[in-house]
Amino acid sequence: MRASRNNEHISGAERIASASDMHKTVSELINRALSHEIGEPDEINISVESLKQEKIKKLKALNIATISVADYKQGRLCASKLLELIGISKKAIKMAVDYMENGAPPDKKNMRGAMIIDCKTGKRIEPDRYRGIRASRMDIAKEAEAKLTSTLKKAKINNPYIREAIVLATKVANAPDTIAEICWSDDPSYQAGYIASKRFGYVRFPYLKEKGSPFGGRAFFVDAKKIDLKKYINFLEQQAILITRIGRCKPPVNWNTFLNEAVIPAP
Ligand code: AMP
Repeated sequence: MRASRNNEHISGAERIASASDMHKTVSELINRALSHEIGEPDEINISVESLKQEKIKKLKALNIATISVADYKQGRLCASKLLELIGISKKAIKMAVDYMENGAPPDKKNMRGAMIIDCKTGKRIEPDRYRGIRASRMDIAKEAEAKLTSTLKKAKINNPYIREAIVLATKVANAPDTIAEICWSDDPSYQAGYIASKRFGYVRFPYLKEKGSPFGGRAFFVDAKKIDLKKYINFLEQQAILITRIGRCKPPVNWNTFLNEAVIPAP
């Protein structure tokens, strides 16, 4: 589902459902399109396509951790340190954050998709800087979703943003060539964000953007020298992914505790 107003992206969502659930699923997506805090769309696109069971790759969701931070500035600091630990250069981190903070596409609006950023130089390599790359064809199976919801409730962090973000982040982290992802929402009131990677899982920061800011985005960090960009984009857009198992979800900790608990190999 894609919803827009005056040709500006408002929201989008993906589902993998059985044919018998098609009506219900489409109607949930329409409700979703109509209830975004940015406002009502003047255009909603829903496309439905058949998918063969055997083409669906099953994955376990990333482990979830939360790092307690006092405000978005502290959140950015810890998120940057985490990205550095994963191997992203300071320059690339700064460039990603600057884009996301000020509007990533050339017209300074919000992108429908994500930037792809070289982990060393910070150079953007996605072919369309207005649209970005949209990860698609992913969802979570019903039983896994129920488990995830109850786990997130216990951790007092359950909301639809997280559920969808974990699905997306799991797909992106499992794409060959993804080193890490950074994300915060473009919803002005939603300040949380995350850094995802195979190594550290889905690491959530309750504050990663300034309250009231209409800018958000996603950046996927890759090594531009090694990547087969066409193959990478094809995986993100085309490979169907269903999450069938959930990972661990740890209670919130501060940055130092997170570092002590994470197994960080010596350089
Ligand atoms: P959201 O968390 O839905 O507010 O999305 C925040 C930003 O992430 C959006 O402005 C897009 O730039 C990007 N984004 C949202 N959905 C996707 C997706 N499926 N694939 C890639 N990027 C996305």
